[in-house]
Amino acid sequence: STMPPLLSAIATAGRHGVLAKSAVVMERLGQIDTVALDKTGTLTEGTPRVTSVHPLPGSGPDESALLALAAAAERPSEHPLARAVVDAARERGLSPREATAFSSVPGEGVTATVAGRTVRVGSPARLPDTGAGEPYRRVVRDLEDAGHTAVAVLQDGVVVGVLGIGDRPRPDARATVAALTALTGRAPVLLTGDNERAARRLAAEVGITDVRAGLLPEQKLAAVEAWEAEGRRVLVVGDGVNDAPALAAAHCGTAMGRAGSDLALETADAVVVRDELAAVPATVQLSRTARRLVI
Ligand code: ADP
Ligand code: MG
Repeated sequence: STMPPLLSAIATAGRHGVLAKSAVVMERLGQIDTVALDKTGTLTEGTPRVTSVHPLPGSGPDESALLALAAAAERPSEHPLARAVVDAARERGLSPREATAFSSVPGEGVTATVAGRTVRVGSPARLPDTGAGEPYRRVVRDLEDAGHTAVAVLQDGVVVGVLGIGDRPRPDARATVAALTALTGRAPVLLTGDNERAARRLAAEVGITDVRAGLLPEQKLAAVEAWEAEGRRVLVVGDGVNDAPALAAAHCGTAMGRAGSDLALETADAVVVRDELAAVPATVQLSRTARRLVI
């Protein structure tokens, strides 16, 4: 064809499943030497499911009421964990009440008013554990040891239960990690807001050893900025609102299209539109080939 090599590479990358937003982006993809991957929704399928519901002993809500309460607070959220909670409530035939005064903190969780009470749902490491003792900590530890994400539910500041949420690695996650390692000469790093044990477990399954867990969005950003300050060119792949600052700072930010939040899709330089992670290393390779043709 008579198309310039980079434009032709954009078209080919599109067929592979990655949409580069410009020729500059297409070129940058071939320059990266460091890769940072998000966990939930990026290395995992992003369709996590509630696998267990644990009301805490006491006079709090029972299993169904706990799930309905959490679902009410999570309904406005676009986080993959929130969708898992809402779907689980629907599958059990529960009808969550309307929530008001909704707010969310990326990397932490959500807060809303449900039937006049303040409900918080999110990371046990980030939310206060007032009123909860050893049984609470044991449930959280057991879930995390099993590679699940534990989500705490608080009512008026008191922990009333825990939800166990499981997510599977994408079928092409391991091959993608291997391909990116071969392309850059460095193994990718996992940057996640999730807890250390669940993160290490997933990392081991996909072949990653460098794991930075429990990160807030600004800490993901700081990791990318530190590498860029050393002169590295970083590819960040992520899907969440929590990934947006890191996606923006990276030499090339790439968002997962299907699970991706609107903010991640807007902020990213490129989007994985076919929901196949393996399209990312394929696109890096395409960019390198096109660059050789340009030079
Ligand atoms: P990752 O970096 O792996 O994509 P996030 O930064 O999005 O993960 O979330 C980190 C942690 O914050 C989650 O593991 C969860 O504990 C908590 N969290 C964030 N948003 C929510 C939410 N809407 N509902 C429940 N928990 C949440
Ligand atoms: Mg994510």
